[in-house]
Amino acid sequence: MLIYDLDYPTLTSTLKEWNEPAYRAKQIWQGLYQHLYNSPEQFTTLPKSLREKMTENFTFMPFSVKVYQDSSDKSTRKTLFELPDGNLIEAVLMRYGDPADNPQITAAAPQSMMRGAKNRRTLCISTQAGCAMGCVFCATGQLGYKRNLSSGEIVAQVMYYAQMLKEHNEVVSNVVFMGMGEPFHNYDNTMAAIDRLNDSDGYNFGARRFTISTVGLVPQIRRFADEKRQVNLAISLHAIDDDARTEMMPVNKRYKIDDVLEACEYYVAMTSRRITFEWALINGVNDTPEIAKKLASKLRGLMCHVNAIPLNPTAGFDGKATDRQRADVFKETLEQAGIPCTIRMRRGIDINAGCGQLAGANS
Ligand code: SAH
Ligand code: SF4
Repeated sequence: MLIYDLDYPTLTSTLKEWNEPAYRAKQIWQGLYQHLYNSPEQFTTLPKSLREKMTENFTFMPFSVKVYQDSSDKSTRKTLFELPDGNLIEAVLMRYGDPADNPQITAAAPQSMMRGAKNRRTLCISTQAGCAMGCVFCATGQLGYKRNLSSGEIVAQVMYYAQMLKEHNEVVSNVVFMGMGEPFHNYDNTMAAIDRLNDSDGYNFGARRFTISTVGLVPQIRRFADEKRQVNLAISLHAIDDDARTEMMPVNKRYKIDDVLEACEYYVAMTSRRITFEWALINGVNDTPEIAKKLASKLRGLMCHVNAIPLNPTAGFDGKATDRQRADVFKETLEQAGIPCTIRMRRGIDINAGCGQLAGANS
């Protein structure tokens, strides 16, 4: 049993079955999520017999590191994990700001300082092995669907990097569900992972520091809105007319752009939170000023902003990335029409840090 798969009530009842006093659950929870222990031996406040029982019954690392790569500027680390069933998943660490700022941070520093923009340490993690959605430009989509990750397998990716950062007195500041898989296609496990990491007696990672990115599954967007979570939501849009979007993203046959946008309006109404639209800029395909104008007119009135990212080229798709100049024109056109836009230059291109790319190259 993977220990990160347990929620607190289940851990409590497991320890009760083992005839352990109730406070042991709290000690283990704090060891896992506050001290970031990753083996039973580290739980030195527990009796040896209990540590042995933990060793017999729990695993702490649900995957092995198959390969990792650092970008040439060392700001980005991408890790490919192999699950016991042979499936491969990826998780990426991106360091923003001056790396020299971060080691000064100590555990005693206030959260706001530790997690300030200057010292951002963003994790991009996976929710599924492969993906069923088949977006043609996406390396994960090109791999196809393998399986859902359990909540613990999602949590473990965060813990892996949190433990690594801790060695340098650094902390994770943001978690984005933009690795492999479609989080809303694995809704329950994704939310359970968020809840576990959010627990104020445990890792205490604020809801607003998570971002879920979805291909646009309408019922789940509405469900998410109804739950009024504080988690950020990003929608992968990439095209503004249905034919073009269906060509790139087969899911659009089922959920048309207007249905997705209606669900987005519902989300904003329910949560009062701004929504993000993701736009992979493909040279000559979806990066013209005409398309930017059309996009702006569709989004007008919605509390949103557009995150445009030049396409990361993949083996199975022959589109090219938009250059900086065209990207800037796209941004200006949107902004003149009243829609805020940021251009995010892709990180770690030199290590194939686009989603699914490392798994594709190693399977
Ligand atoms: N399945 C979710 C989250 C994982 S993909 C989703 O699709 O939103 C994370 C983001 O990367 C999405 O916006 C996706 O459209 C984008 N993406 C996938 N492949 C890409 C590529 N080759 N270049 C640029 N962005 C890409
Ligand atoms: Fe799946 Fe997202 Fe890739 Fe589409 S872009 S195939 S939804 S991971």
